[in-house]
Amino acid sequence: MDKTLRLFAFNCGWFQCRPGYFVEGDEGDYLRGPVPSYLIDHPRGRALFDTGMGVRYRRELADALPAAKFGLQWFEGMDVATRLRAIDVDPASIDWVINSHLHIDHCGGNALLPNATAIVQAAEWNTARDKPEAGLYEAQDYDTGQPIKAIAGEHDLFGDGTVRIVPTHGHTPGHQSVIVRLPGGEVLLAGDCCYTERNLDAMVQPRATVDFEAGRVTMERLASLRSGGIRILFGHDGRQWATLREGVAFD
Ligand SMILES: [Zn+2]
Repeated sequence: MDKTLRLFAFNCGWFQCRPGYFVEGDEGDYLRGPVPSYLIDHPRGRALFDTGMGVRYRRELADALPAAKFGLQWFEGMDVATRLRAIDVDPASIDWVINSHLHIDHCGGNALLPNATAIVQAAEWNTARDKPEAGLYEAQDYDTGQPIKAIAGEHDLFGDGTVRIVPTHGHTPGHQSVIVRLPGGEVLLAGDCCYTERNLDAMVQPRATVDFEAGRVTMERLASLRSGGIRILFGHDGRQWATLREGVAFD
């Protein structure tokens, strides 16, 4: 890889939910959204933003979820390590994992990255450690023995302003996002602080929010960043995902 900062997107599974899960009141068919992971390839190190789901959630195609059921659709070959190898990136070369938060669909692949240090907001780490919950916060995903760098607030990962971790609390107590400065402009990797573009357009938070006041502040910040020209990649937005090219460097 060359010496320019590059960003790649991968889908590490699908998230399937009722139509009103993202925006209450929406009707129609069940929705499918991606479970994204992003590679940030910086001249001085490699970071992933989120890592998908743990192998215990993997399904055979034969026992895929029925069309109208909440859950995860994750199949062989969609794990983050396989996605990385497909573009000739060794999972052992990943230095950092930035977990937006510690729900099962965001840190389940951490253990596949043997040399990575996980960067998590301290408030998120404390929440997950104190209140594990089946299907939501499962210690085997995040308490892997890998080094944890607990931060509080913003963090400039490489000290040059190109990869900035920013707190975006609301969905969980210690949710965080990342702003990547590419040659073509800034991109905000939202994670679940904003599931879909429609949530931001309508300024609607989903029911799956632990702190609506913090979430409101986050949404206002996102709206202001967007009107300033930043490109936002949403947490589980199937419509937006269809416009991205997986495994190809962003412009
Ligand atoms: Zn999620």
